[in-house]
Amino acid sequence: MILTRYIIIQLIAAAVAAFVAERKGRNWIIWGIACFLFPFSLVILAFLPPVLAKGVTKPCPECGRIIRHGSTVCGYCKRELPIEMVQCPRCGKYVPEGQSCPDCTQ
Ligand SMILES: [Zn+2]
Ligand SMILES: [Zn+2]
Repeated sequence: MILTRYIIIQLIAAAVAAFVAERKGRNWIIWGIACFLFPFSLVILAFLPPVLAKGVTKPCPECGRIIRHGSTVCGYCKRELPIEMVQCPRCGKYVPEGQSCPDCTQ
């Protein structure tokens, strides 16, 4: 049952790749498929730096490295980041970045 076992490895690789790619601001669908076909692509993805993706990642104002959107401390330089306030597109109220508007989400 080598074939069945290989498919399980492919599925796990695809799931892990989709998760890691999403956190790095990369296209998780493409990486999921790539790692399903070639599970070793996961190694490449692990070494790729995160990219800027709106709503997923943002650059650190101190060191310029790309960090997770909505994080309060930079993972590289350990600088505490001010919470950015963004305007709610529906009611115009200012809410902390990375959080949904309390008035518009029920
Ligand atoms: Zn930093
Ligand atoms: Zn709102």
